[in-house]
Amino acid sequence: MVLKRALIFLGPPGAGKGTQAKHIARSCGIPHLSTGDMFRDAVSRGTELGKSVQPIMERGELVPDDLVMKLVEERLSRADCARGFVFDGFPRTLAQASELDHILESRGFGKPLVIDFAVSEPVLLRRLSGRWTCSVGGEIYNIYDAPPRQAGICDLDGGKLVQRADDRPEVVKERLMAYERQTKPLTDYYRRQGVLEMVDGSATVEEVQRALQGILNGARRS
Ligand code: AMP
Repeated sequence: MVLKRALIFLGPPGAGKGTQAKHIARSCGIPHLSTGDMFRDAVSRGTELGKSVQPIMERGELVPDDLVMKLVEERLSRADCARGFVFDGFPRTLAQASELDHILESRGFGKPLVIDFAVSEPVLLRRLSGRWTCSVGGEIYNIYDAPPRQAGICDLDGGKLVQRADDRPEVVKERLMAYERQTKPLTDYYRRQGVLEMVDGSATVEEVQRALQGILNGARRS
């Protein structure tokens, strides 16, 4: 599928953005750009960036905009981003969104297509507390709703499943507050630009996949 467009998956932590972004990226043959994954990678490799963001992430707060933008600009300059990409967890502040608009324009992209995942707080809490991720390929499971065939082991590559440190209840509360305060205003920002679409993120993985496919098909025709 040809898609020279930036996709942005917006929504609170636990809304299912990562699961859906991985699927869309695979089916469209475009990269899945998760700033959270990039920061976790820097932390696990012990780089300078990793050392500076680790305490911020452990508190559930947002990393400063300048560090996020540097990471994103570097990533977008790679050849695999030429045709399009799907952002998951970025932008998260109005400053990031406005800088991204400039970057997209300078790279010959039009307006992004932004999908907002709406999910109620009780569903988010259940998703986050049950989330386990493959330490090898990053596949996401949920012990309540989408468990692996064998406990603790990834169905796809046999990797060990691990729980994210910031999925602990006290940190989850902080992350949801950061979302409300700093990220939620982006829905109005993109609505005003006429590029916002909504999906019901509390539906099943397959239902959300179908809804997204419908939105993408509509966007390709318009
Ligand atoms: P995520 O995996 O998207 O939930 O991100 C995990 C953590 O990484 C967040 O709680 C933030 O500390 C940091 N992070 C990821 N993306 C961003 C971003 N766009 N802006 C600021 N902080 C971010």
